[in-house]
Amino acid sequence: MIEETIFSKIIRQEIPTPLLYQDDLVTAFRDIAPRASTHILIVPNNHIATVNDVSESDELTMGRMITVAKKLAKAEGIDEHGYRLIINCNEDGGQEVFHIHMHLLGGQRLGPMLAL
Ligand code: AMP
Repeated sequence: MIEETIFSKIIRQEIPTPLLYQDDLVTAFRDIAPRASTHILIVPNNHIATVNDVSESDELTMGRMITVAKKLAKAEGIDEHGYRLIINCNEDGGQEVFHIHMHLLGGQRLGPMLAL
């Protein structure tokens, strides 16, 4: 069992980060170091470290992350102009927090998909 990260404390509101959304499966809050005008993180309530650790029993949760991202994009007023969803995995993917999270980025014209 890989240790919990700060995201579990945010989900349980042991750290008082304002939540944009929470239900039985996922939680969303703003990234502390935004890379775009809108930068929201959508995370499963259960601790899943990386995409490599996702199992079939997580399929509902992973799908919920997408539908919540869609709703938040609309709430932020960026759905029509567009946005980007990113999940980083492990070192080469640039993952820093080992609790799966989907980045919702938008509110401006985003640069090229990859900066290598
Ligand atoms: P990743 O590189 O995909 O693991 O992204 C981790 C993201 O978590 C980064 O964009 C960080 O800015 C963000 N982050 C780290 N700590 C916090 C926090 N306490 N509240 C909100 N976002 C955080």
